[in-house]
Amino acid sequence: MTVYKAPVDEMSFLINQVLGMDKIAQLPGYEEATPDMVDAILSEAARFFGEVVAPTNQPADQQGSHLDGTTVITAPVLDGIYQQLTESGWTSLTGDVEYGGQGLPMLLSVAVDEMSQSANMSFGLCPMLTKGVVTALDMYGSDEQKALYLPKLVSGEWAGTMNLTEPQAGSDLAAVRTKAVPEGDHYRLSGQKIFITWGDHEYTDNIIHLVLARTPDAPEGVKGISLFVVPKFLINEDGSRGERNDVYCVGLEHKMGIHASPTCSLSFGDNDGAVGYLVGEENQGLVYMFAMMNEARLAVGLQGVSISERAYQQAVAYAKDRVQGSAPGVSKATIIHHPDVRRMLMQMRALTEGARALAYSALAHEDHAFKETDEAESAYHQRRVDLLTPLVKGWCTEIGMEVTSLGVQVHGGMGFVEETGAAQHMRDARILPIYEGTNGIQSMDLVGRKIARDKGVAAGELMKVLLPVVAEARTAGLVEMADALEYSLAACQQAVESLFAQATGDWAAPGSAAYNLMMLMGTTVAGALMAKSAIVAVSLNASGEGNGVFNNCKITTTRFFAEQIMPRNQAYLATIKAGSASVMALDIEAF
Ligand SMILES: Cc1cc2nc3c(=O)[nH]c(=O)nc-3n(C[C@H](O)[C@H](O)[C@H](O)COP(=O)(O)OP(=O)(O)OC[C@H]3O[C@@H](n4cnc5c(N)ncnc54)[C@H](O)[C@@H]3O)c2cc1C
Repeated sequence: MTVYKAPVDEMSFLINQVLGMDKIAQLPGYEEATPDMVDAILSEAARFFGEVVAPTNQPADQQGSHLDGTTVITAPVLDGIYQQLTESGWTSLTGDVEYGGQGLPMLLSVAVDEMSQSANMSFGLCPMLTKGVVTALDMYGSDEQKALYLPKLVSGEWAGTMNLTEPQAGSDLAAVRTKAVPEGDHYRLSGQKIFITWGDHEYTDNIIHLVLARTPDAPEGVKGISLFVVPKFLINEDGSRGERNDVYCVGLEHKMGIHASPTCSLSFGDNDGAVGYLVGEENQGLVYMFAMMNEARLAVGLQGVSISERAYQQAVAYAKDRVQGSAPGVSKATIIHHPDVRRMLMQMRALTEGARALAYSALAHEDHAFKETDEAESAYHQRRVDLLTPLVKGWCTEIGMEVTSLGVQVHGGMGFVEETGAAQHMRDARILPIYEGTNGIQSMDLVGRKIARDKGVAAGELMKVLLPVVAEARTAGLVEMADALEYSLAACQQAVESLFAQATGDWAAPGSAAYNLMMLMGTTVAGALMAKSAIVAVSLNASGEGNGVFNNCKITTTRFFAEQIMPRNQAYLATIKAGSASVMALDIEAF
């Protein structure tokens, strides 16, 4: 069995010393997030997810879930865990106090969510999607819908799902065909949704599906999509559970990973039509669903961090145990003595720390965007969240694949067989660049919506705050990082200019280069945040504060990131400058 111990020191350092929890705790409504409270939550969460949830990861993968008629049977090893999760309040940390939530900052809950996903990513998907449903209903639901659904969704008594995908409508949601026909105060829905994560299960009394569908006279394309709440069980006037609604699980996907997460085909309206209730106005469904998707994109990026952390911990444990070969002064060396294994472990560690800093920073900005009373200040932080979202989703999930693959490599042949669990992390990580909008779609969102649409304002603001970090790193003696960051920030600028110069005469230029721009910017922002962390570590060392060993590890890992990861930015820039010529040159018949 693989052990997982939450990296609480690293999380606490990032939250408190680098990303400014003290400032966030001064925002109205967040006053309870005192340092003592933050520490208490982190250590109790580490205990729960490390001791209770993490041991289920491998057996749940082996047991998987299956369908019995239309009933989803989940992995037996998970029995009772969902109840413990919700009763301990781990799903309601950021929920609005008005609906029974704890109203705590997202910068705190992101660490707990990271632990949840490291402990068992398949299982963690269930509360993760419920949180997205809470966000969408909180923003766009009617007062009546909020009062009916939110208290039970926030507490976790009910779970939520997100129903976008249909066989012909994946990345292109304009092709959604599910129908919603008005009938009195509700609609009757009919159609098929596929790939619905935790689309059915027996953990909760009810499941609240958010569903994209078209009303009879809706315009073609994305402008004709509306959003509906479709409960698995209808709810009686007195709030008790009513009749079974006409939505059933008709199939489960057989997947390469996340076996314990049931991925369902849901059939709506095979009998009388599933009763659904419109959220907001007709034809605004995609706008509303984006509220949920943006949150889910950050959460999926965080899954990349979580799975990397778990793979790293496992690889370190194996490397300290496996005896093979010799090293100077050691006759029967464990493999951690070998420089190439050390390179792999450092790569895993540096990428994971960089990704964690990137993902957490987006949530820190989200806290400011949500609670700042000054409108301009709030809008500034929202622009940053919007810009960082495709970087978090794209970069952190790409590195999730790299880190878990390295984890297999560190194990040698034992990584390729299933019993160590290293292979499971790699299989599980593979979904992350695909769902919640593929990374190709994320990169085009970055170029189109997040950079071109606002004429580079948000990107310019980001560069402006990162530029001074170069001089600060140099002053702190972090020369390698100062040089790498100076180059990388200039490379980002050049890449954007080159891309837009090419785009005027070449329709294929943005699409050919978008992925590499996402990787360039992700590596740069993660590097800048590593630099900020190391600057703090240097200053703590100078004043004799903090844990010297931790501080020195941070400084060394940052140097590795600068010397061994950031040179990738030269290659990303070169590919962007090369343009679309060789990407698009072959005739389609020649493939
Ligand atoms: C395990 C799992 C869980 C999921 N959970 C959910 C869920 O809970 N709810 C839900 O609604 N959906 C869910 N999905 C669906 C998931 O979001 C989609 O699979 C994903 O959005 C991609 O759509 P697709 O599979 O149709 O791929 P396609 O859209 O067919 O894409 C195939 C390839 O073409 C590329 N591509 C497509 N269009 C373009 C374009 N315009 N420009 C450039 N490249 C393009 C893509 O990047 C990709 O590389 C899940 C999927 C899986 C596998």
